[in-house]
Amino acid sequence: MNNYPAILGGSPVRRTPFPRRRTMGAAERKAALEVLDSDNLSSFFGSAGEFFLGGEKVRAFENAWAQKYGFGHAISVNSWTSGLTVAIGAIGIEPGDEIICSPYTMSASATCALFYGGIPIFADIDAETFCLDPVAVEDAITPRTKAIVVVHLFGRPAELDAICGIAHRHGLRVIEDAAQAPGVFYRGRPVGAIGDLGGFSLNYHKHIHTGEGGMIVTNDAILARRCQLIRNHGENASEGLEGAALSNVIGGNYRLTELQAAIGAAQLDRLNACLITRTLLADHLGRRLAAIPGLRIPPPLSAGSTQAHYVYPIKYDAAITGLSRHSFVKAVLAEFPIPENFEGTPLTEGYVRPLYLNSIYQQRIAIGAKGFPFNCNPGVKYSYLPGLCPVTERMYERELLLTPLVREPLTKTDMDDLADAIEKVISNASSLAAVLDNAER
Ligand SMILES: *Cc1c(COP(=O)(O)O)cnc(C)c1O
Repeated sequence: MNNYPAILGGSPVRRTPFPRRRTMGAAERKAALEVLDSDNLSSFFGSAGEFFLGGEKVRAFENAWAQKYGFGHAISVNSWTSGLTVAIGAIGIEPGDEIICSPYTMSASATCALFYGGIPIFADIDAETFCLDPVAVEDAITPRTKAIVVVHLFGRPAELDAICGIAHRHGLRVIEDAAQAPGVFYRGRPVGAIGDLGGFSLNYHKHIHTGEGGMIVTNDAILARRCQLIRNHGENASEGLEGAALSNVIGGNYRLTELQAAIGAAQLDRLNACLITRTLLADHLGRRLAAIPGLRIPPPLSAGSTQAHYVYPIKYDAAITGLSRHSFVKAVLAEFPIPENFEGTPLTEGYVRPLYLNSIYQQRIAIGAKGFPFNCNPGVKYSYLPGLCPVTERMYERELLLTPLVREPLTKTDMDDLADAIEKVISNASSLAAVLDNAER
Protein backbone atom coordinates (compact mmCIF):
# COMPACT_ATOMS: atom_id res chain seq x y z
CA MET A 1 0.00 0.00 0.00
CA ASN A 2 1.16 3.45 -0.89
CA ASN A 3 1.88 5.11 2.44
CA TYR A 4 1.94 8.72 1.26
CA PRO A 5 -1.10 10.63 2.59
CA ALA A 6 -3.76 11.49 0.01
CA ILE A 7 -4.11 15.00 1.47
CA LEU A 8 -0.46 15.63 0.49
CA GLY A 9 -0.95 14.19 -3.00
CA GLY A 10 -0.54 10.43 -2.39
CA SER A 11 -3.08 7.92 -3.64
CA PRO A 12 -6.10 7.37 -1.37
CA VAL A 13 -6.85 4.16 0.51
CA ARG A 14 -10.23 3.87 -1.20
CA ARG A 15 -11.99 5.36 -4.23
CA THR A 16 -15.45 3.78 -3.99
CA PRO A 17 -18.05 5.12 -1.54
CA PHE A 18 -19.14 2.92 1.37
CA PRO A 19 -22.37 1.08 0.54
CA ARG A 20 -25.57 2.86 1.59
CA ARG A 21 -27.92 1.55 4.23
CA ARG A 22 -30.88 -0.30 2.82
CA THR A 23 -33.46 -0.60 5.57
CA MET A 24 -36.70 -1.67 3.87
CA GLY A 25 -37.25 -5.14 2.42
CA ALA A 26 -39.95 -7.53 1.27
CA ALA A 27 -41.42 -7.94 4.77
CA GLU A 28 -41.91 -4.18 5.24
CA ARG A 29 -43.37 -3.86 1.74
CA LYS A 30 -45.88 -6.62 2.38
CA ALA A 31 -46.81 -5.19 5.79
CA ALA A 32 -47.30 -1.69 4.38
CA LEU A 33 -49.40 -2.88 1.44
CA GLU A 34 -51.63 -4.90 3.72
CA VAL A 35 -52.41 -1.76 5.73
CA LEU A 36 -52.96 0.31 2.58
CA ASP A 37 -55.33 -2.31 1.22
CA SER A 38 -57.26 -2.32 4.49
CA ASP A 39 -57.70 1.46 4.04
CA ASN A 40 -57.32 1.78 7.81
CA LEU A 41 -54.26 3.92 8.43
CA SER A 42 -55.06 4.62 12.08
CA SER A 43 -57.71 3.25 14.42
CA PHE A 44 -57.03 5.52 17.39
CA PHE A 45 -60.00 7.27 18.95
CA GLY A 46 -59.38 10.12 21.38
CA SER A 47 -62.00 9.03 23.91
CA ALA A 48 -62.60 6.03 26.17
CA GLY A 49 -63.57 2.90 24.28
CA GLU A 50 -62.29 0.05 22.23
CA PHE A 51 -59.87 2.07 20.13
CA PHE A 52 -58.45 4.35 22.80
CA LEU A 53 -55.31 2.19 22.68
CA GLY A 54 -55.12 2.13 18.88
CA GLY A 55 -55.75 -0.45 16.20
CA GLU A 56 -54.63 -3.97 15.45
CA LYS A 57 -51.17 -3.17 14.08
CA VAL A 58 -50.29 -0.72 16.85
CA ARG A 59 -51.22 -3.24 19.53
CA ALA A 60 -49.46 -6.11 17.75
CA PHE A 61 -46.26 -4.06 17.44
CA GLU A 62 -46.36 -3.12 21.12
CA ASN A 63 -47.01 -6.73 22.17
CA ALA A 64 -44.20 -8.04 19.99
CA TRP A 65 -41.72 -5.57 21.50
CA ALA A 66 -42.83 -6.23 25.08
CA GLN A 67 -42.71 -9.99 24.60
CA LYS A 68 -39.36 -10.07 22.86
CA TYR A 69 -37.64 -8.55 25.91
CA GLY A 70 -40.06 -9.37 28.69
CA PHE A 71 -41.18 -5.79 29.35
CA GLY A 72 -44.44 -5.49 31.29
CA HIS A 73 -45.78 -2.79 28.96
CA ALA A 74 -44.82 -1.17 25.64
CA ILE A 75 -46.51 2.03 24.46
CA SER A 76 -45.75 3.20 20.93
CA VAL A 77 -45.48 6.92 20.17
CA ASN A 78 -44.86 9.03 17.08
CA SER A 79 -41.25 9.86 18.05
CA TRP A 80 -38.94 9.24 20.97
CA THR A 81 -38.94 12.98 21.63
CA SER A 82 -42.67 12.53 22.19
CA GLY A 83 -41.89 9.45 24.28
CA LEU A 84 -39.53 11.39 26.56
CA THR A 85 -42.12 14.15 26.98
CA VAL A 86 -44.83 11.58 27.76
CA ALA A 87 -42.50 9.91 30.30
CA ILE A 88 -41.87 13.24 32.04
CA GLY A 89 -45.64 13.78 32.25
CA ALA A 90 -46.23 10.23 33.44
CA ILE A 91 -43.92 10.58 36.44
CA GLY A 92 -45.72 13.77 37.40
CA ILE A 93 -43.08 16.46 36.88
CA GLU A 94 -44.31 19.91 37.96
CA PRO A 95 -42.99 23.42 37.30
CA GLY A 96 -39.77 23.97 39.27
CA ASP A 97 -38.88 20.29 39.65
CA GLU A 98 -35.25 19.59 38.83
CA ILE A 99 -34.32 16.77 36.46
CA ILE A 100 -30.71 15.60 36.29
CA CYS A 101 -29.48 14.75 32.81
CA SER A 102 -26.40 14.48 30.65
CA PRO A 103 -25.21 17.43 28.57
CA TYR A 104 -23.74 15.04 25.99
CA THR A 105 -26.76 13.67 24.16
CA MET A 106 -29.42 14.57 21.64
CA SER A 107 -31.12 17.77 22.87
CA ALA A 108 -34.50 16.11 23.55
CA SER A 109 -33.07 14.14 26.51
CA ALA A 110 -33.06 17.48 28.36
CA THR A 111 -35.75 19.47 26.55
CA CYS A 112 -38.45 16.94 27.48
CA ALA A 113 -38.41 18.24 31.08
CA LEU A 114 -39.02 21.83 29.96
CA PHE A 115 -42.41 21.04 28.42
CA TYR A 116 -43.72 20.33 31.94
CA GLY A 117 -41.82 23.21 33.56
CA GLY A 118 -39.06 20.92 34.81
CA ILE A 119 -35.55 22.36 35.01
CA PRO A 120 -32.69 20.36 33.43
CA ILE A 121 -29.66 20.14 35.73
CA PHE A 122 -26.60 18.90 33.88
CA ALA A 123 -24.24 16.38 35.49
CA ASP A 124 -20.95 15.44 33.84
CA ILE A 125 -20.22 12.21 32.00
CA ASP A 126 -17.70 9.44 32.61
CA ALA A 127 -14.62 9.90 30.41
CA GLU A 128 -14.56 6.24 29.34
CA THR A 129 -18.23 5.40 28.70
CA PHE A 130 -19.53 8.93 27.83
CA CYS A 131 -22.64 8.15 29.91
CA LEU A 132 -23.65 9.96 33.14
CA ASP A 133 -21.05 9.74 35.92
CA PRO A 134 -22.87 8.47 39.04
CA VAL A 135 -20.69 10.64 41.32
CA ALA A 136 -21.63 13.76 39.35
CA VAL A 137 -25.29 12.74 39.51
CA GLU A 138 -25.21 12.46 43.29
CA ASP A 139 -23.46 15.86 43.55
CA ALA A 140 -26.24 17.48 41.51
CA ILE A 141 -29.08 16.39 43.80
CA THR A 142 -30.98 19.09 45.71
CA PRO A 143 -34.25 19.00 47.68
CA ARG A 144 -35.96 19.96 44.39
CA THR A 145 -34.63 17.01 42.36
CA LYS A 146 -37.36 14.66 41.11
CA ALA A 147 -35.84 12.52 38.39
CA ILE A 148 -32.77 11.41 36.46
CA VAL A 149 -32.77 10.99 32.68
CA VAL A 150 -30.01 8.52 31.89
CA VAL A 151 -28.85 8.04 28.29
CA HIS A 152 -27.24 4.86 26.97
CA LEU A 153 -25.00 6.87 24.69
CA PHE A 154 -23.79 5.42 21.40
CA GLY A 155 -25.61 2.20 22.36
CA ARG A 156 -23.55 1.41 25.47
CA PRO A 157 -25.49 0.85 28.70
CA ALA A 158 -24.93 3.48 31.41
CA GLU A 159 -24.00 2.46 34.97
CA LEU A 160 -27.59 1.70 35.94
CA ASP A 161 -26.86 -0.14 39.20
CA ALA A 162 -25.14 2.93 40.62
CA ILE A 163 -27.64 5.40 39.18
CA CYS A 164 -30.74 3.45 40.22
CA GLY A 165 -29.17 3.01 43.68
CA ILE A 166 -28.76 6.78 44.02
CA ALA A 167 -32.31 7.32 42.80
CA HIS A 168 -33.64 4.81 45.29
CA ARG A 169 -31.81 6.42 48.23
CA HIS A 170 -33.10 9.88 47.31
CA GLY A 171 -36.61 8.90 46.19
CA LEU A 172 -36.07 9.91 42.56
CA ARG A 173 -37.53 8.51 39.35
CA VAL A 174 -35.27 7.17 36.59
CA ILE A 175 -36.11 7.59 32.90
CA GLU A 176 -33.88 5.64 30.52
CA ASP A 177 -33.22 7.29 27.17
CA ALA A 178 -32.34 4.14 25.24
CA ALA A 179 -32.86 5.77 21.82
CA GLN A 180 -29.46 4.53 20.69
CA ALA A 181 -29.62 1.20 22.52
CA PRO A 182 -32.51 -1.01 21.31
CA GLY A 183 -32.08 -4.65 22.28
CA VAL A 184 -29.24 -3.87 24.68
CA PHE A 185 -28.77 -5.70 27.99
CA TYR A 186 -27.22 -4.38 31.19
CA ARG A 187 -25.93 -7.12 33.48
CA GLY A 188 -28.43 -9.58 32.04
CA ARG A 189 -31.47 -7.31 31.99
CA PRO A 190 -32.88 -5.44 28.96
CA VAL A 191 -32.34 -1.66 29.15
CA GLY A 192 -35.38 0.62 28.96
CA ALA A 193 -37.31 -0.49 32.03
CA ILE A 194 -34.55 -1.11 34.56
CA GLY A 195 -35.36 2.39 35.81
CA ASP A 196 -39.02 3.42 36.14
CA LEU A 197 -39.60 3.73 32.42
CA GLY A 198 -37.71 4.45 29.25
CA GLY A 199 -37.68 3.75 25.58
CA PHE A 200 -36.36 3.75 22.09
CA SER A 201 -36.32 5.94 19.00
CA LEU A 202 -37.61 4.71 15.66
CA ASN A 203 -36.45 7.63 13.52
CA TYR A 204 -34.84 6.84 10.20
CA HIS A 205 -31.26 7.07 11.50
CA LYS A 206 -31.67 4.61 14.35
CA HIS A 207 -30.95 0.84 14.18
CA ILE A 208 -34.52 0.03 13.18
CA HIS A 209 -37.12 2.59 12.23
CA THR A 210 -40.62 3.54 11.17
CA GLY A 211 -39.56 6.78 9.48
CA GLU A 212 -40.44 8.59 12.71
CA GLY A 213 -41.56 6.81 15.86
CA GLY A 214 -40.72 5.63 19.34
CA MET A 215 -41.49 2.94 21.90
CA ILE A 216 -41.91 3.54 25.63
CA VAL A 217 -41.38 0.53 27.92
CA THR A 218 -42.06 0.05 31.62
CA ASN A 219 -42.87 -2.64 34.14
CA ASP A 220 -45.12 -0.28 36.14
CA ALA A 221 -48.82 -0.61 35.26
CA ILE A 222 -49.77 2.85 36.58
CA LEU A 223 -46.99 4.57 34.63
CA ALA A 224 -48.01 2.59 31.53
CA ARG A 225 -51.61 3.77 31.88
CA ARG A 226 -50.52 7.37 32.38
CA CYS A 227 -48.39 7.13 29.24
CA GLN A 228 -51.35 5.79 27.27
CA LEU A 229 -53.49 8.68 28.51
CA ILE A 230 -50.91 11.35 27.70
CA ARG A 231 -50.39 9.81 24.27
CA ASN A 232 -54.03 10.19 23.36
CA HIS A 233 -56.01 13.13 24.80
CA GLY A 234 -56.12 11.63 28.28
CA GLU A 235 -58.49 14.30 29.63
CA ASN A 236 -61.28 12.58 27.70
CA ALA A 237 -60.62 9.13 29.08
CA SER A 238 -59.10 9.36 32.55
CA GLU A 239 -62.42 9.74 34.36
CA GLY A 240 -63.27 6.64 36.32
CA LEU A 241 -60.64 4.61 34.53
CA GLU A 242 -58.60 3.43 37.44
CA GLY A 243 -59.04 5.94 40.21
CA ALA A 244 -57.25 8.90 41.65
CA ALA A 245 -53.72 7.93 40.66
CA LEU A 246 -54.76 8.62 37.09
CA SER A 247 -56.43 12.00 37.45
CA ASN A 248 -54.69 15.23 36.46
CA VAL A 249 -53.63 13.92 33.11
CA ILE A 250 -53.89 16.04 30.01
CA GLY A 251 -52.91 14.44 26.76
CA GLY A 252 -51.54 15.29 23.38
CA ASN A 253 -51.67 13.33 20.19
CA TYR A 254 -48.47 11.29 20.16
CA ARG A 255 -49.97 8.30 18.33
CA LEU A 256 -48.22 6.02 15.87
CA THR A 257 -50.13 5.07 12.70
CA GLU A 258 -51.11 1.54 11.63
CA LEU A 259 -48.79 1.87 8.65
CA GLN A 260 -45.80 2.71 10.85
CA ALA A 261 -46.66 -0.02 13.35
CA ALA A 262 -46.89 -2.67 10.64
CA ILE A 263 -43.49 -1.62 9.27
CA GLY A 264 -42.12 -1.46 12.80
CA ALA A 265 -43.07 -5.08 13.54
CA ALA A 266 -41.15 -6.19 10.45
CA GLN A 267 -38.21 -4.03 11.49
CA LEU A 268 -38.16 -5.53 14.97
CA ASP A 269 -37.51 -8.92 13.37
CA ARG A 270 -34.30 -7.49 11.90
CA LEU A 271 -32.92 -6.06 15.13
CA ASN A 272 -30.94 -9.10 16.31
CA ALA A 273 -29.16 -9.49 12.98
CA CYS A 274 -28.36 -5.78 12.96
CA LEU A 275 -26.83 -5.93 16.43
CA ILE A 276 -24.80 -9.04 15.57
CA THR A 277 -23.36 -7.38 12.44
CA ARG A 278 -22.47 -4.21 14.32
CA THR A 279 -20.80 -6.10 17.14
CA LEU A 280 -18.72 -8.08 14.66
CA LEU A 281 -17.63 -4.91 12.85
CA ALA A 282 -16.94 -3.01 16.07
CA ASP A 283 -14.86 -5.82 17.51
CA HIS A 284 -12.83 -6.08 14.32
CA LEU A 285 -12.26 -2.33 14.11
CA GLY A 286 -11.44 -2.20 17.81
CA ARG A 287 -8.76 -4.88 17.45
CA ARG A 288 -7.13 -2.89 14.64
CA LEU A 289 -7.29 0.48 16.42
CA ALA A 290 -6.19 -0.75 19.85
CA ALA A 291 -2.60 -1.04 18.62
CA ILE A 292 -2.37 2.54 17.31
CA PRO A 293 -0.61 5.04 19.59
CA GLY A 294 -2.72 8.08 20.49
CA LEU A 295 -6.05 6.30 20.01
CA ARG A 296 -8.18 4.72 22.74
CA ILE A 297 -11.06 2.36 22.09
CA PRO A 298 -13.92 1.91 24.58
CA PRO A 299 -13.26 -0.32 27.63
CA PRO A 300 -14.87 -3.78 27.86
CA LEU A 301 -18.45 -4.08 29.10
CA SER A 302 -19.50 -5.41 32.50
CA ALA A 303 -20.43 -9.11 32.65
CA GLY A 304 -23.85 -9.83 31.13
CA SER A 305 -23.96 -6.51 29.25
CA THR A 306 -24.21 -5.90 25.51
CA GLN A 307 -24.11 -2.81 23.32
CA ALA A 308 -25.76 -1.63 20.10
CA HIS A 309 -22.95 0.40 18.47
CA TYR A 310 -25.13 3.24 17.25
CA VAL A 311 -21.83 4.88 16.31
CA TYR A 312 -18.32 3.84 17.37
CA PRO A 313 -16.47 6.24 19.71
CA ILE A 314 -12.67 6.58 19.64
CA LYS A 315 -10.66 8.83 21.95
CA TYR A 316 -7.87 10.85 20.38
CA ASP A 317 -4.79 12.21 22.14
CA ALA A 318 -3.04 14.91 20.08
CA ALA A 319 -0.21 15.11 22.65
CA ILE A 320 0.77 11.56 21.66
CA THR A 321 0.15 11.72 17.90
CA GLY A 322 1.58 15.21 17.48
CA LEU A 323 -1.26 16.13 15.10
CA SER A 324 -4.36 18.15 16.00
CA ARG A 325 -7.67 16.27 16.01
CA HIS A 326 -9.03 18.48 13.28
CA SER A 327 -6.07 17.89 10.96
CA PHE A 328 -6.17 14.17 11.73
CA VAL A 329 -9.82 13.92 10.69
CA LYS A 330 -9.19 16.01 7.56
CA ALA A 331 -6.32 13.74 6.55
CA VAL A 332 -8.33 10.56 7.17
CA LEU A 333 -11.30 11.88 5.17
CA ALA A 334 -8.95 12.64 2.26
CA GLU A 335 -8.25 8.89 2.03
CA PHE A 336 -11.87 8.30 0.96
CA PRO A 337 -14.32 9.68 -1.61
CA ILE A 338 -16.48 12.63 -0.45
CA PRO A 339 -19.22 11.07 1.75
CA GLU A 340 -22.78 11.11 0.45
CA ASN A 341 -24.32 11.53 3.89
CA PHE A 342 -23.63 11.12 7.62
CA GLU A 343 -23.87 7.33 7.50
CA GLY A 344 -21.14 7.25 4.86
CA THR A 345 -18.73 9.55 6.70
CA PRO A 346 -15.60 7.73 7.96
CA LEU A 347 -14.90 10.00 10.95
CA THR A 348 -16.47 12.99 12.71
CA GLU A 349 -15.22 15.10 15.64
CA GLY A 350 -16.77 15.93 18.97
CA TYR A 351 -20.42 14.69 18.72
CA VAL A 352 -22.71 17.51 19.96
CA ARG A 353 -21.92 20.78 21.74
CA PRO A 354 -22.59 20.40 25.49
CA LEU A 355 -26.33 21.08 25.68
CA TYR A 356 -26.09 23.75 28.38
CA LEU A 357 -24.19 25.98 25.96
CA ASN A 358 -27.34 26.25 23.82
CA SER A 359 -29.02 29.62 24.07
CA ILE A 360 -32.14 28.47 25.93
CA TYR A 361 -29.88 27.62 28.89
CA GLN A 362 -27.47 30.51 28.43
CA GLN A 363 -30.38 33.00 28.34
CA ARG A 364 -32.69 30.94 30.55
CA ILE A 365 -35.83 31.61 28.52
CA ALA A 366 -37.32 28.25 27.51
CA ILE A 367 -41.02 29.17 27.44
CA GLY A 368 -42.22 32.74 27.03
CA ALA A 369 -39.93 35.69 27.68
CA LYS A 370 -40.02 35.91 31.48
CA GLY A 371 -37.62 33.09 32.24
CA PHE A 372 -39.97 30.15 32.73
CA PRO A 373 -39.26 27.58 34.10
CA PHE A 374 -35.85 28.77 35.36
CA ASN A 375 -37.64 31.40 37.52
CA CYS A 376 -39.88 28.85 39.29
CA ASN A 377 -37.88 28.52 42.50
CA PRO A 378 -37.56 31.95 44.18
CA GLY A 379 -34.04 32.50 45.48
CA VAL A 380 -32.51 29.73 43.35
CA LYS A 381 -30.39 30.97 40.48
CA TYR A 382 -29.63 28.51 37.70
CA SER A 383 -26.39 29.04 35.84
CA TYR A 384 -25.07 27.09 32.92
CA LEU A 385 -21.64 28.64 32.56
CA PRO A 386 -18.92 27.16 30.34
CA GLY A 387 -16.83 24.85 32.53
CA LEU A 388 -19.92 23.30 34.16
CA CYS A 389 -19.09 19.78 32.87
CA PRO A 390 -15.36 19.71 32.09
CA VAL A 391 -15.21 16.08 30.89
CA THR A 392 -17.98 16.71 28.37
CA GLU A 393 -16.29 19.90 27.16
CA ARG A 394 -12.98 18.09 26.75
CA MET A 395 -14.60 15.31 24.69
CA TYR A 396 -16.38 17.88 22.55
CA GLU A 397 -13.42 20.18 22.01
CA ARG A 398 -10.45 17.83 21.85
CA GLU A 399 -10.81 14.10 22.46
CA LEU A 400 -13.79 12.40 20.89
CA LEU A 401 -13.97 10.91 17.39
CA LEU A 402 -16.95 8.98 16.06
CA THR A 403 -17.35 6.67 13.13
CA PRO A 404 -20.83 5.81 11.89
CA LEU A 405 -19.38 3.11 9.61
CA VAL A 406 -19.93 0.34 12.14
CA ARG A 407 -23.24 -0.57 10.51
CA GLU A 408 -24.90 -2.90 8.02
CA PRO A 409 -24.27 -3.66 5.17
CA LEU A 410 -20.56 -2.95 5.70
CA THR A 411 -18.01 -5.71 6.15
CA LYS A 412 -14.69 -6.34 7.88
CA THR A 413 -12.96 -5.29 4.64
CA ASP A 414 -14.57 -1.87 4.98
CA MET A 415 -13.36 -1.70 8.59
CA ASP A 416 -9.87 -2.58 7.35
CA ASP A 417 -9.99 0.33 4.91
CA LEU A 418 -10.84 2.69 7.76
CA ALA A 419 -8.12 1.25 9.99
CA ASP A 420 -5.59 1.40 7.11
CA ALA A 421 -6.39 5.07 6.52
CA ILE A 422 -6.05 5.86 10.21
CA GLU A 423 -2.74 3.98 10.45
CA LYS A 424 -1.42 5.75 7.39
CA VAL A 425 -2.28 9.19 8.77
CA ILE A 426 -0.80 8.42 12.19
CA SER A 427 2.42 7.09 10.68
CA ASN A 428 2.76 10.35 8.74
CA ALA A 429 1.65 12.54 11.64
CA SER A 430 4.73 14.72 11.88
CA SER A 431 4.86 15.65 8.19
CA LEU A 432 1.09 16.22 8.22
CA ALA A 433 1.35 18.40 11.32
CA ALA A 434 4.03 20.52 9.66
CA VAL A 435 1.70 21.26 6.74
CA LEU A 436 -1.84 21.11 8.17
CA ASP A 437 -1.49 22.26 11.79
CA ASN A 438 0.72 25.16 10.73
CA ALA A 439 -1.76 26.20 8.04
CA GLU A 440 -4.42 26.36 10.76
CA ARG A 441 -2.43 28.73 12.93
C1 LIG B 1 -32.63 9.99 18.42
C2 LIG B 1 -32.56 10.36 19.85
C3 LIG B 1 -33.62 11.00 20.52
C4 LIG B 1 -34.84 11.49 19.83
O1 LIG B 1 -35.56 10.51 19.14
P1 LIG B 1 -36.58 10.93 17.97
O2 LIG B 1 -37.30 9.65 17.69
O3 LIG B 1 -35.76 11.39 16.83
O4 LIG B 1 -37.47 11.98 18.47
C5 LIG B 1 -33.50 11.22 21.88
N1 LIG B 1 -32.39 10.86 22.55
C6 LIG B 1 -31.35 10.29 21.94
C7 LIG B 1 -30.14 9.92 22.75
C8 LIG B 1 -31.38 10.05 20.56
O5 LIG B 1 -30.31 9.50 19.96
